[in-house]
Amino acid sequence: MIQTETGTDAAPGPDYDAIVIGAGMSGLYQLYRLRELGLRALVLEAGTGVGGTWYWNRYPGARFDSESYSYAFSFSKELLEEWNWNEHFAPQPETLRYLNHVADRFDLRRDIRFSSRVVSAHYRDAAAGWEITVEDGTRFCARFLITAIGPLSAPTMPRIEGLDSFTGQSFHTARWPHEEVRFAGKRVAVIGTGATGVQTIQEVAKTAGHLTVFQRTPNWCAPLHNSRIDAEEMARLKAGYPEMFQRCQETFACFLHTPDPRGAFEVSDAEREAFFEKLYGEPGFGIWQGNFRDILTDRRANAAVSDFVARKIRQRVKDQTVAEKLIPKNHGFGTRRVPLETRYYEVYNQDNVKLVDISETPIERITPRGVQTSDAEYEFDIIIYATGFDAVTGSFDRIDFRGTGGQRLKDKWNEGPRTYLGVLVDGFPNMMMLIGPHMALGNIPRSIEYNVDWVTGLLRHAQGRGLTRIEATEAGVTAWNDHVKSLGKGLLSNEVNSWMTGVNTNVEGKQVRIINRYSGSAPAYRATCDEAAAAGYAALTQT
Ligand SMILES: Cc1cc2nc3c(=O)[nH]c(=O)nc-3n(C[C@H](O)[C@H](O)[C@H](O)COP(=O)(O)OP(=O)(O)OC[C@H]3O[C@@H](n4cnc5c(N)ncnc54)[C@H](O)[C@@H]3O)c2cc1C
Repeated sequence: MIQTETGTDAAPGPDYDAIVIGAGMSGLYQLYRLRELGLRALVLEAGTGVGGTWYWNRYPGARFDSESYSYAFSFSKELLEEWNWNEHFAPQPETLRYLNHVADRFDLRRDIRFSSRVVSAHYRDAAAGWEITVEDGTRFCARFLITAIGPLSAPTMPRIEGLDSFTGQSFHTARWPHEEVRFAGKRVAVIGTGATGVQTIQEVAKTAGHLTVFQRTPNWCAPLHNSRIDAEEMARLKAGYPEMFQRCQETFACFLHTPDPRGAFEVSDAEREAFFEKLYGEPGFGIWQGNFRDILTDRRANAAVSDFVARKIRQRVKDQTVAEKLIPKNHGFGTRRVPLETRYYEVYNQDNVKLVDISETPIERITPRGVQTSDAEYEFDIIIYATGFDAVTGSFDRIDFRGTGGQRLKDKWNEGPRTYLGVLVDGFPNMMMLIGPHMALGNIPRSIEYNVDWVTGLLRHAQGRGLTRIEATEAGVTAWNDHVKSLGKGLLSNEVNSWMTGVNTNVEGKQVRIINRYSGSAPAYRATCDEAAAAGYAALTQT
């Protein structure tokens, strides 16, 4: 079917059965499944290439915190067999190569329209479909709208005066240029010390003439312990894929790591210390995701692991005044996303690196020459904003979604997102969200594959019955919201400001904590969604 690029106000007919917004992992896999259903599908993507997160985040040091092979798509045996990973935690260029390979292998590009940022998506009752407009004014009509716009894809700049006045080079990490940026002999600033900031800092410090790190809130970081994978190890890993993916299905958050069944104080002091030491010495998220079962719910257990990591920081950083600044005081270990690092703390032992604590001396403005804090002006050639994302709902807020009766999604979610299973919203018929709010995150591609397969099942159901409209009910949404809220009770992470609780001081209206993610186990999430499907999606209105 040919797309209609009408540009008129006429009620649209569904030129496409389904339009997907976003060509990251979610959008790519959804397109593959839509084709299997024989649906006329189109993907609209803002970037000039596929890959989403791995297309945009080209900053120095960008890499996985998930084990590469556990992150990869598992749906195709042939794809698994032919792709070799070079590192246990692949750097961004390797992952982008992988996702380009996926797009080529399954010939996905022919149904993707690049450089097409969606600005609005309006439901049209008369046509029982969506009218979607991209930045250049072109409109597309589809029966079903599937959002694959990413939980971490809407970058935020800090709210500091004078951003445009700087005369040197400046970059947000998630809008990094495609050309190489060189730091040798340059005076470089990094603003922000979240997961991205940590990866950037440890890389830039290797070559920068001088690096100044502006830190507002330190995060609890733990060693990544990355290493290369040779041919022999890759062959061994491949032979173990079925068991590895099975394990990811069974763990709490789809990682290879899952909580130890013991409580931190059910073992002796010596055993506890030895266990922390073991986890600190192992690759990946083990110390966060594979720790004692109660470190993220019990204050004493959390204090024990926090104390352990604080001691490590004091050992690794020579200047104890700097070490104290790097140790978080306002939240416990693991209650925010744990950045994984490689010699991050040792960076602060280098002569060419300075830490500026902007909780003590706040940034007042960006000047033509650099950064003015309350006590000094620092001059730079390059400023890097590692200030992260307007997470989870940010990519939704940037599109004018309107449902039945013209209601805006942004208004509906004014006090936090409300969804059915994290996939549908009442008043927004025929719209499904991939990795939207109230979804299980964790090792995200595992959730993506489940999420896409569930949406595909729902579309198959609609196709088989000739349904033209499916919609969540208010009761279904309320029940799911109550469930998501109840799961969040008792989690120490919900007492902390972070992107996981929807707080971003750089975004207006996002200063109050909300529950924006599903915090139960991935197997429990899947069981609930499987049940809903087995019941014929009875909680949805279907016509
Ligand atoms: C630096 C970084 C490292 C990460 N590391 C890990 C990790 O180790 N493990 C892990 O599990 N997860 C990690 N993540 C999370 C990562 O986002 C997910 O793993 C996964 O890539 C999400 O895929 P997605 O397709 O859902 O979203 P994305 O990859 O974010 O793709 C969304 C796509 O939608 C497009 N889009 C958005 N809005 C519009 C619009 N209005 N119009 C058109 N197109 C639009 C974007 O351009 C983008 O291409 C990381 C995230 C970041 C930022």
